[in-house]
Amino acid sequence: MNLDMNEPNNTAVDAVQRAMSQGAILSDVQNVCPDGTKAWMLCLGYLEADEGFLVRAGNTSLASNKDAARGNKRRLLPMYCVLIEHPYEGLILWETGSGSHYPELCGPVFNDVFPRVIYEPHHDLKAAIESTGHSYRDIKAVVIGHLHVDHAGGLDIFKGTDTPIWCHERELKSAFFSVATGADFGVYLPHYLDLGLNWKTFTETELDFAQGITLHHFPGHTEGLIGMQLNLPHDGTFIFTGDLFHVKENYYDGVPQGWLARDHPAWFNSYQRVKRLQHRTKGKVIMGHDSTTCDSIWNWKGASPLV
Ligand SMILES: [Zn+2]
Repeated sequence: MNLDMNEPNNTAVDAVQRAMSQGAILSDVQNVCPDGTKAWMLCLGYLEADEGFLVRAGNTSLASNKDAARGNKRRLLPMYCVLIEHPYEGLILWETGSGSHYPELCGPVFNDVFPRVIYEPHHDLKAAIESTGHSYRDIKAVVIGHLHVDHAGGLDIFKGTDTPIWCHERELKSAFFSVATGADFGVYLPHYLDLGLNWKTFTETELDFAQGITLHHFPGHTEGLIGMQLNLPHDGTFIFTGDLFHVKENYYDGVPQGWLARDHPAWFNSYQRVKRLQHRTKGKVIMGHDSTTCDSIWNWKGASPLV
């Protein structure tokens, strides 16, 4: 670590200058991860669902096509986590996927709606982490964007550990309430909403969580959903939005979510905030389950991390 003021961290300076030369605003890109940071985006299997859950008016008829023979469009939905090797903070895990026992724990109705159609041994959370040369036991902090089962189901591997599990306070309250009262049971499940986990929350709209990592409260899909802005020293800014946007149409075309939306006015505000954040940072927006976007990262990097 170089703390000599006469010898600035040239990697961070270079990263900021590169971003500014592309039109970024200084205050949004100056919190840069230290040199040596690595971030692996790891595939944790695929769900499948009717398009109507993800894209408003998906699979509905129009006057102009009411007599046409139409199949029901379905979407293949990748799940992923991001494992960050941070020189100062250690290992940070962004989200956990659906967990090893998703089909058994979700039950037959949920499995019929959101079946997990691809799940190979390397999609298991522990195995995915091990593919980077690390162990889940060495993770110093887990950050969950929102507590739906396909993002937080893998938390069960942290039961019995004191690993801090971070989320927004409103998400924690909403998730426990939803399960306890049955208000939104199914998308939230009790097996990972465990009182024994070492829950940590924050209330800010924006939180500089660590050097180069900023968390943003983006309500709409759920009350307490957060996104993660990662300013990497070489590959630039990434904005992981989780399920504020399931698929690219939600973000690029501004088509609201379908049946999985919860609070449309809040969603629209968050959507506009991400648009502005992307404009200010010139970052790459990574949605919760967009195949094309995930594949673009995996085809670009292969098994190598973002740096
Ligand atoms: Zn999801």
